[in-house]
Amino acid sequence: ESKNERVNLTVVIERVVMQMQNDSNVEIIRNLGNNIFGMADEEQFRQIAVILIENAIRYTDEHGKITIVLEKDNEEIRFIVTDTGIGIPVQDQHKIFDRFYRVDKDRSRQTGGTGLGLSIAKELVHNIGGTITLVSKTGFGSTFTVHLPLIKSGYS
Ligand code: ATP
Repeated sequence: ESKNERVNLTVVIERVVMQMQNDSNVEIIRNLGNNIFGMADEEQFRQIAVILIENAIRYTDEHGKITIVLEKDNEEIRFIVTDTGIGIPVQDQHKIFDRFYRVDKDRSRQTGGTGLGLSIAKELVHNIGGTITLVSKTGFGSTFTVHLPLIKSGYS
């Protein structure tokens, strides 16, 4: 169940990044715009950000880079998490949003995890009226994009 209201997405993501433990010391770059508001359940949006950013850190080594962007145009709001990590093979890309699916148990075992994160993220994204897409290349990295509708302009 979600209670969607006007939320400052810039602030929510900023807070998540500040509180995230980045033990690996991978470089995190962010460009979160200037107080971009969207309709969302704040706690659910926070969880989406945690899952995507934690995964980016988990599947990227210390020499890599994570880029977090929040942007808005005339069509939509986009929350984009890009990493230069291990990437996701094409044949797995449509399955990683399924519950308990993990790419290649050998490569994932050492990193822990349950295979639930992305299925939860996808459900939460749908709850707040958005979609999530993935572009990835093995050995080069992954980009997860959450597309959210603009707040309909009202008269208030
Ligand atoms: P957890 O439930 O704790 O997040 P998890 O990371 O295994 O564990 P998901 O978040 O659902 O579960 O991710 C599913 C699988 O997708 C992972 O096991 C991993 O193989 C792959 N994956 C997810 N994010 C990335 C990423 N940024 N780079 C490379 N592979 C990823």
